[in-house]
Amino acid sequence: ATPMSIMVASGKGASAGVLFRNAEAIQTLRQVNTLIVDKTGTLTEGRPRLQAVAAAEGFGEEQVLRLAATLERGSEHPLAAAIVQGAEERGVRPDRYTDFESVTGKGVQGRVGEHDVALGNQALMEALGVASEALAGQAETMRAEGQTVMFVAVDGRPAGLVAVADPVKETTPEAIEALHNEGIRIVMLTGDSETTARAVARRLGIDEVIAGVLPEQKADKVRALQAEGRFVAMAGDGINDAPALAQAQVGIAMGTGTDVAMESAGVTLVKGDLMGIVRARRLSRATMRNIK
Ligand code: ADP
Ligand code: MG
Repeated sequence: ATPMSIMVASGKGASAGVLFRNAEAIQTLRQVNTLIVDKTGTLTEGRPRLQAVAAAEGFGEEQVLRLAATLERGSEHPLAAAIVQGAEERGVRPDRYTDFESVTGKGVQGRVGEHDVALGNQALMEALGVASEALAGQAETMRAEGQTVMFVAVDGRPAGLVAVADPVKETTPEAIEALHNEGIRIVMLTGDSETTARAVARRLGIDEVIAGVLPEQKADKVRALQAEGRFVAMAGDGINDAPALAQAQVGIAMGTGTDVAMESAGVTLVKGDLMGIVRARRLSRATMRNIK
């Protein structure tokens, strides 16, 4: 494309809330045939809310919520905010914690009073050797509704679970439909569980789900799709998404997400609205048409 047409596209993009890092980003976007999307904060609002608390035998629901909220005060994860706020709304006051540790892509752990407390997904419970079978049925029912389930363990014993739900962004369904109409395959890439991811994907008509992915594995999953010959755009919002955004032929950051994601991306959607990808592709096509 000519420098002039690139400038025009940049200007039009900016007024439509789409920022292109450079000419290459404008030029390559129209060749994309696969869009990989992170779930939390990209398809969904990224503001989960507490939905349910359940206790295992020998524990109380309030106790489970208090322990969860206590540890999550040490975390900056959106899931942590949901639990802390949920406890506050239910009048449950957190205790003090020590020895806090966050386990990336899995959860958090620390000490509350005399007890070792852990909070996180199935993988964390497995890593700690906590058998959570007694809660497994309830957990799976919640996941099938699209909720994210986190287990609480006390001194290596299952104590209960907390479930949160993150609403889908209002514009996500129409963006997916528009991208499908352009023949783009949509793949969800998430650290959340398979059942939760599939429940959300089914609701949105997403073509493929890659779930249970640790943050450091996201870029590898992008590479694997490229190795199949796909021309890939990756959309994400988190610090964890940055390497995957850099690996994709086009990285697309949500302007509502982290600075690290935006620095790794060729395109930033200012309002974090996936419809921006549809607009950006139109600009990409119009720009390239000018030089043919
Ligand atoms: P995503 O890919 O959706 O952004 P992450 O990789 O950050 O998710 O986290 C994956 C999973 O690890 C979460 O669904 C949750 O079960 C667990 N997890 C991560 N951080 C926390 C936390 N602070 N508290 C509880 N669970 C957590
Ligand atoms: Mg995310």
